[in-house]
Amino acid sequence: MNASWSDPLSPTPNPALVSDAARVAFWEGQASRLDWAGPWTTAHRFEGPRRIGQDADGNPTWSVPELAWFEGGRLNVAHNCVDRHVEAGRGAHVALYFEGEPGDRLVYTYADLQREVSRAANALLALGVERGDRVVIYLPVIPETVVITLACARIGAVHSLVFGGFSAEALRFRVEDTGAKVLVTTDGQHRRGAVVPVKAVADEACSGDNAIEHVVVVRRTSRPGRSDLPRGTRGTHSKEEDAVPWTRGRDVWWHELVAEQPDVHEAEAFDAESPLFIIYTSGTTGRPKGLVHTMGGYLVQAAYTHALLFDLLPDVRDDEGRLRPDELSTVNDPAKVDSTVHWCTADLAWVTAHTYEIYGPLVNGVSEVIYEGTPNTPHWGRHFEVIERYGVTTYYTAPTLIRSLMGAFPKGVPPLYNLNSVRLLGSVGESVNPEAWRWLRAQLGRDEVPFVDTWWQSETGATVMSPRPHDPQFAPPGTFDDGAPHTALKPGCATRAVPGLSTRVVDEAGATVPPGVQGFVVVDRTGPSMARTVWGDPQRYLSSYWQAYAEQGWFLAGDGARCDEEGDIYILGRVDDVINVSGHRLSTIEIESALVTHPWVVEAGAAPVRDELTGHAVLAYVVLTPEAERVPADELTATLREHVAREIGPIAKPRAVVAVPDLPKTRSGKITRRLLAQLWEGEPLGDRSSLQNEEALERIAEVLAARG
Ligand code: ATP
Ligand code: MG
Repeated sequence: MNASWSDPLSPTPNPALVSDAARVAFWEGQASRLDWAGPWTTAHRFEGPRRIGQDADGNPTWSVPELAWFEGGRLNVAHNCVDRHVEAGRGAHVALYFEGEPGDRLVYTYADLQREVSRAANALLALGVERGDRVVIYLPVIPETVVITLACARIGAVHSLVFGGFSAEALRFRVEDTGAKVLVTTDGQHRRGAVVPVKAVADEACSGDNAIEHVVVVRRTSRPGRSDLPRGTRGTHSKEEDAVPWTRGRDVWWHELVAEQPDVHEAEAFDAESPLFIIYTSGTTGRPKGLVHTMGGYLVQAAYTHALLFDLLPDVRDDEGRLRPDELSTVNDPAKVDSTVHWCTADLAWVTAHTYEIYGPLVNGVSEVIYEGTPNTPHWGRHFEVIERYGVTTYYTAPTLIRSLMGAFPKGVPPLYNLNSVRLLGSVGESVNPEAWRWLRAQLGRDEVPFVDTWWQSETGATVMSPRPHDPQFAPPGTFDDGAPHTALKPGCATRAVPGLSTRVVDEAGATVPPGVQGFVVVDRTGPSMARTVWGDPQRYLSSYWQAYAEQGWFLAGDGARCDEEGDIYILGRVDDVINVSGHRLSTIEIESALVTHPWVVEAGAAPVRDELTGHAVLAYVVLTPEAERVPADELTATLREHVAREIGPIAKPRAVVAVPDLPKTRSGKITRRLLAQLWEGEPLGDRSSLQNEEALERIAEVLAARG
């Protein structure tokens, strides 16, 4: 294999160097990380869009592309994530540390997990779930969510996780779109210190036209939990059990169902291209799309990228004597695996959690934390307590949370917590503002640990671009002869594609844009975890992702980006968020990042509003620090306009600066800029089904009304 194309020091690999044969061989090598019950016959097949005719306007029409990896190969995903670690003598190693919002805790070893997943698999089979059937999992972050997800994988059922905070409407759409046979939910949930009933929401979601045969209810809030689980305590006691609405014949208590099941189950192997799960995109840009991921390719890229980015690969010395991980290694360093306590703070229903909280960490056999609650329950130090309690080594979170922590601790994290276990930080979900990047690294990472800013999407299934944990820029000062690695730091830079993939930043015609110029991100060589189709709507798979560069066979990501002189890529936000002022394409994320460098501003959301002369004008919403709330509105606007002009240029000056208590965000923490613009323009608000804080909209509307 040609190592030059993945040299960690080289900028974005030149696509010309990435021969298809080398790329496929690389992923075949990575596939050896897994246990296969039978070898694949075709390593990779890509039938890009083909021209099949033309429409009424004379535009070419294209076939829907087909992608496959490891076809004919047979494996069981749950066996790979659980059983094989037990078989390898690591049954006593901790798989999960669970911490509930009320403070209850549980520890599951890999052997515990094997028993629980086996019982759960038997339970699903007893309910009549067969391979290929869909199971919608509407649960909070509790061990059962991981167990039931793995149990689906084990029996070949297709899972679709839905965020436990979603409304009945959002759940109904997913129940109906997947055609699920079983919905798994809870009696209630702990949310911000309160117990919230959930079952009635699930019932409402199942009241329409659907294929649901059973609603399975995990007991979380109505009673102490099962006593046969490993150490720890469970739930809170209340009399609410009787209040759980119940449909006889359809509804089943999970604890009663599993109690009858044996804790052994023989895992069957499935074809690598069998569907593993359906994940719905946030729907920021319309009706959510159910992306379909398959077993073999997905698990290979989840395993490799988790190992690469969270530093499990063995270290080697390069020609210059520098220590760095062997990026092409197909094995992990056992000492690194044993000493890792991973924590991905995402909700389990988000794609981030599928790959770096369920499948990636477990397939690599590390220990990890799952935490049920919000980061400020009962106080903003909760995450630091969790890090200290479990000795978290890799902390992977979202920019929105970092900004909230910055707002909560303007003077820095108080020295009450021992955070020295942290050896790597990461973020995902949005571009991380450089200010937030520096803050987190200083506060949790002693200004010295690597920070991986991982860029990827529900569509790509796993990370596509990210800095590497051992990039020289992260080395402590003095490590290298060339000195001053800190000058090479690139906070907020997604950097370059990981080995085996390749990206470009191109213009509308597909030509690579020069450094400094904004273009579109395309993945010109996708990896094995790429989504195979949109559930029930293959045409939409073509039209959303492949049509724009059908000729070239490139995947359109929908994000804008810019390269620097070294070929490293900065993500500038979603293309549909771009603000176009007199032909200058401004990045929302850059304007927001500029605003949050001002000491008054905790968070910022920038959005385009219509302007007759310039096309768009910039509108800025800001969440202020308590001290800044006293600043008069005129002074605030003038100061922040000047600040943005200084940081970016006068063209980016916001037309208006509006101080608001909170910004509307999706479940995965993305600011919904589309709604910010619609509120200002007084337009009807579009889809809100994936918002985590709908009340923010009303508050903003009140602020705008008060301005007149
Ligand atoms: P929808 O496509 O329905 O609007 P979504 O794009 O919000 O939903 P996800 O797949 O969870 O759903 O998010 C992927 C998007 O998140 C990327 O396209 C990008 O805009 C953003 N993103 C994720 N990670 C990063 C990152 N490290 N830097 C910049 N942007 C990121
Ligand atoms: Mg998207």
